[in-house]
Amino acid sequence: MNSAVMAHMALMDNPGAIPVHCDLAESVHPDSRRFIDDLEQWYGKQIIRLHSPKYRTVDDVFEDRKYLSGRNGAPCASELKFAPRMDFQLPSDLHHWGYTADKLDSARFDGMVADYPLLKQRAPLIEMGLTKKDTHAILRQHGIRRPVVYDLGMPNGNCIGCVKSSSPNYWALIRKEFPEVFARRNDQEKRFGAQLVILGRTKDASGKTVNIRGTLDQIPVNQSTKVRGADFGGCGFHCNSAAA
Ligand code: SF4
Repeated sequence: MNSAVMAHMALMDNPGAIPVHCDLAESVHPDSRRFIDDLEQWYGKQIIRLHSPKYRTVDDVFEDRKYLSGRNGAPCASELKFAPRMDFQLPSDLHHWGYTADKLDSARFDGMVADYPLLKQRAPLIEMGLTKKDTHAILRQHGIRRPVVYDLGMPNGNCIGCVKSSSPNYWALIRKEFPEVFARRNDQEKRFGAQLVILGRTKDASGKTVNIRGTLDQIPVNQSTKVRGADFGGCGFHCNSAAA
């Protein structure tokens, strides 16, 4: 959503800009793919779809790597977003990202600049002071229907069952709306020895607050499905380093 609006503005500023999207095929909701097609009509310009030469979906990556996510990120983002972008980009490229002026998102851009100092990059929405609420309103004004996952309560258009999320509310929502994806992640968790969700917090012996990690099938049946937008970010080209 944010990147969609950012790209529209970047193209108005520079019609020669190249809109690029990482195609994650069936990892995302079909309506999210419809949204990309609609954006092409809005822009009046083709969106370049980048693909991994090796994997089609995030499940292909998980099954091959036998890993979901951890402290150093998620292999799906590395394989399906980071690597294809590295193959595509030129050192001279100026990257425009869809980070918004919302506090957490703005901090994510700061992190991006710190992590990749040699990359030429801008965040036009931050420069204009536009928040996520603003980008949704702008799309509405232009008659662009947002992906249906937002209407279901998802905080972003990430893959269904994004391994970057450790929010029990998010996973309770996935269990409710996409039970087959929930069951698949639950099975993958067990086979790969992962614990995707933070079930609570406690103090360790030194008094430091630590997360209580658990598996998806430990989420209570009455867990709230209300997900706050700020719980975790969207999955940009670089989100291999942003797993929560
Ligand atoms: S949205 Fe989540 S599941 Fe999809 S590629 Fe990014 S980190 Fe992986």
